[in-house]
Amino acid sequence: MKRYVIETWGCQMNVHDSEKMAGILRRCGYEEAPSVAEADLVLLNTCSVREKAAAKVFSRLGALRRLKRARPSMLLGVCGCVAQVEGETIFRRAPWVDLVMGPRNLAHLGDLLEQARRDGRSLSLARDDDPLVFPSGTAARAQGPRAYVTVMEGCNKHCAFCIVPSTRGREVYRSAEEIVAEAGELAAGGYPEIELLGQNVNSWHHGEDDFAALLHRVDRLPGVRRLRFTTSHPGHLSRRIMEAMRDLPSVCNHLHLPAQSGSDRVLGRMRRGYTRERYLAKIRFLRAAVPDMAFSTDLIVGFPGETEADFQATLDLVSEVCFAQVYAFCYSPRPGTEAARAGDPIPQEEQAERLQRLFALQETLQRRANEHLVGRTLEVLVDGPSRLDGDVPKGRTRCNRIVHLPADLPAGTRFLEARIVRAHPHSLTGEPGPATTAA
Ligand code: SAM
Repeated sequence: MKRYVIETWGCQMNVHDSEKMAGILRRCGYEEAPSVAEADLVLLNTCSVREKAAAKVFSRLGALRRLKRARPSMLLGVCGCVAQVEGETIFRRAPWVDLVMGPRNLAHLGDLLEQARRDGRSLSLARDDDPLVFPSGTAARAQGPRAYVTVMEGCNKHCAFCIVPSTRGREVYRSAEEIVAEAGELAAGGYPEIELLGQNVNSWHHGEDDFAALLHRVDRLPGVRRLRFTTSHPGHLSRRIMEAMRDLPSVCNHLHLPAQSGSDRVLGRMRRGYTRERYLAKIRFLRAAVPDMAFSTDLIVGFPGETEADFQATLDLVSEVCFAQVYAFCYSPRPGTEAARAGDPIPQEEQAERLQRLFALQETLQRRANEHLVGRTLEVLVDGPSRLDGDVPKGRTRCNRIVHLPADLPAGTRFLEARIVRAHPHSLTGEPGPATTAA
């Protein structure tokens, strides 16, 4: 039997694309290899949101070259957004690569591998007018309580900094019937938590249905105890969606809502399509409507032309919202984007210094927010061992906090009520009350 390894960079969308690729490979007779040294096929599923991510892929390809020299029959492929952006250039820069496949082409992975074996190389990049196939029911999913379900692909936004619309193409929506059928099967098959995925997930619509209607339909499925969705665009966070979050029992009290900046001037230049006040009004509505509502966000620091006052407005936004988590990065110019053409860059040292100030503020706020949870009893869904200590089980609250649990937690515990006994900046420690469900 042939064996594969898939290495994944990037967000949940990429993680789930890798699950779909693994499913296709298993149907082609492959099984997973424990390491690249034992693999007949190595696929790098890549992300190109920031320049560094792409540079890391070429450095990884450099490291894999030795392996390919030692075992020329091993196939090596680059998939995902770096493949879509770089295309043929990958074969020129790393001629030992056999396959280059864009993110919209993954349903054809089996054929592309055949072609690479037969012809020595295969290249498949999507064009915008290509029909998108959602490979349904093929994903080889990770063990654990959470299952991802794709609801849409692509992005129709024109954010000045972002390369995604050109790598993943225009928005295409899966039908509600397909989504509901897949989510229902997963919930019945032992995944109590469903996470709906899309680059712009809350812009989903199909026929008469909007995203709120989809949430209602998935919420009603037997076995769905937790429902999440990512990534939401603030501009598409309608009153109906927020009311669904308030009213539907399975929808979790956590929302990832990328703000990108707290300055109206920068938001305008980024072409985000909302103001700071409109963003905050949505946060206020949900905080008032949903008990213990938690938010996380993405922020870009040092966008071209960002002044100290603009950056201060971002720090003020962070203080005002008190996010449970912040994913912040220095601005990275991406080819073909409006911001990369515009110039007016902020010196890198200044960007890095601002990023450190943002992280320092967030760490203080995050620790404080976590400390507020000490003494509370929260539902935790156990999802595996801690990353740092394999003997320590961990799970997540409905508000998406990581909770570390005692090592002697009865095997098979899934849901439990945990009393929070300690707070850390990035996690909590809990002690179990009665386990409510064992697998
Ligand atoms: N749909 C999401 C939204 O509302 O913007 C964006 C998803 S994007 C793939 C993930 C995150 O990467 C963005 O939210 C943004 O913070 C970050 N990002 C995208 N382009 C970037 C760039 N050129 N430089 C730095 N960070 C960037």
